[in-house]
Amino acid sequence: MVRFTAFLLLLAAVAAAAPKHKLLIIDGQNNHAWQQTTPVLKRLLEETGLFVVDVATTPPKGGDLSVFKPDFARYRVVVSNYNGEPWPPKTKLAFEKFVESGGGFVSYHAADNAFPEWTAYNRMIALGGWAQRTEKDGPYAKFRDGRIVLDNKPGPGGHHGKRHQFQLVLRDTAHPITKGMPAQWMHNTDELYDSLRGPAQDIHLLATAFSDPATNGTGDHELILFTVKYGKGRIFHTTLGHDVEAMRSVGFIVTLQRGAEWAATGKVTQKLPADFPTATAVSVR
Ligand code: ZN
Repeated sequence: MVRFTAFLLLLAAVAAAAPKHKLLIIDGQNNHAWQQTTPVLKRLLEETGLFVVDVATTPPKGGDLSVFKPDFARYRVVVSNYNGEPWPPKTKLAFEKFVESGGGFVSYHAADNAFPEWTAYNRMIALGGWAQRTEKDGPYAKFRDGRIVLDNKPGPGGHHGKRHQFQLVLRDTAHPITKGMPAQWMHNTDELYDSLRGPAQDIHLLATAFSDPATNGTGDHELILFTVKYGKGRIFHTTLGHDVEAMRSVGFIVTLQRGAEWAATGKVTQKLPADFPTATAVSVR
C-alpha cells in the first residue's frame, strides 16, 4: 500500500510539472556588464517556471574561441547576451542550422551589435548597430506613417541618446507576446537604440518608441521590439535592457519572458502581471 501511494504521488508530481523548455544563454564577451546581466536574465526566465536554463560562456577576448561549441540542438531556445569576437565557423554553422530548423532565438540588447560580418546572423536579427555598420550592411528602418520605412541613405548604424525613461507604443496588440498589454506603456531608464541598420527582412513589428531630439535622439519612432522569421525559426529581438536598472522594468521583464516562450514554442501561456506599467507610470521590481 505504501508503495502504491508513493507511486500515485509520483504520478501526480509528474503530471503537475509541465514539461520545461531547455534554454541556453550565451555570454562571455560584451561591452556591457554580462557578469551582472546574465544572472538576472537567468532568474527572470526561471521565474516563469517554463524553462530550464543553462549558460554557455565563451573564452574571454583574445582567448581560444575554437573551444566554444555548445550543442544547440539540445535546446528549444537560445538567448544571446554576447557581443564579442567571431565564433568558430563550425559553431556559426551549427547555430544557423539550429534556427533554420525551428529553434528559437532571443537577441537581447547588445547582441544586435555582434557579428557584422556574419550574413545569416544579420538576417536573424534583421537590424544591428555599431561595429562599423554602415549602408553596406543594409538600410535604416524607421516607423513612419503607420508602417516600417526602409531608408538607404549613407551613414553609421547604431546610436542612442541619453538614457531616460520612455514610452513603448505597441504596433501589434494581438501578437502572443503583446496580447493584453496596454497600447502604450512606460519603460524604466534605459538606452533607446536608434538608427539600426541591416537586411531588415521578415520583420514583424511589435513596439516602437519615440526617439526624442531632446534626449539626443532622432525625432523618429524607432523599432524597439520585433520578431523575425528565419527558416522555421522564430526570433524575438529586444533592444532593451542595457543594465540591471533597466532590467528592473516590468515591461522589460514581461516582454523578455513572453518573447522567450514565443521563440521556444510559438505560443505564450503567461498571464499579464498586475504590476504591468501603464501609459504614464513606470513599474519596477
Ligand atoms: Zn547598452
